[in-house]
Amino acid sequence: MAAPLPVSDFLVSIHDLKRQPGEMMEIRRNFANPERIGIDVIAIEAQTDFRITGRIESVSTGVLTTCGISSSAAGECVRCLDPITLPIDVRFQELYFYEIPSDWDEDDDPPLLITEERIDLLPPVRDAVILELPLAPHCSDDCRGLCPDCGEKIAENPQGHSHQKIDPRWAKLREVPGLE
Ligand SMILES: [Zn+2]
Ligand SMILES: [Zn+2]
Repeated sequence: MAAPLPVSDFLVSIHDLKRQPGEMMEIRRNFANPERIGIDVIAIEAQTDFRITGRIESVSTGVLTTCGISSSAAGECVRCLDPITLPIDVRFQELYFYEIPSDWDEDDDPPLLITEERIDLLPPVRDAVILELPLAPHCSDDCRGLCPDCGEKIAENPQGHSHQKIDPRWAKLREVPGLE
């Protein structure tokens, strides 16, 4: 007896397309994202609401998927470290093959394949989300970040942020009584 197939909300059975070019099916799924998708500074965290909608069309060599993803990413501002959330709305289109095409360039990444009449949407979802995420997310375009001298958020106290820079050599002199 074959081992039971793994279950994932990203796996879609294409059995109903019956390998008939021209057949089409719609997908519409809402689920809790099973694993973190993103980069160090920002990601769609596990358990975040995730929606995939789209269609899967049967073509002679496999199936063409056209999907939209909606979710939200969480991270922190790289300047002031405030938490931020970012709505995610991306689309992708990918062809999944029944078998590796004979003319596939070996230098290219391996193609997406149909396994046991199912396709796994996670790899293209992951690629599309990561492309969409900012490498240096920030809370607002004019975020001034943290003061390098005192660590305080500059926006909270813009006036008090002209720390007097004292040359360390003169600072020594200031400690000598009578030289103030
Ligand atoms: Zn910020
Ligand atoms: Zn400061």
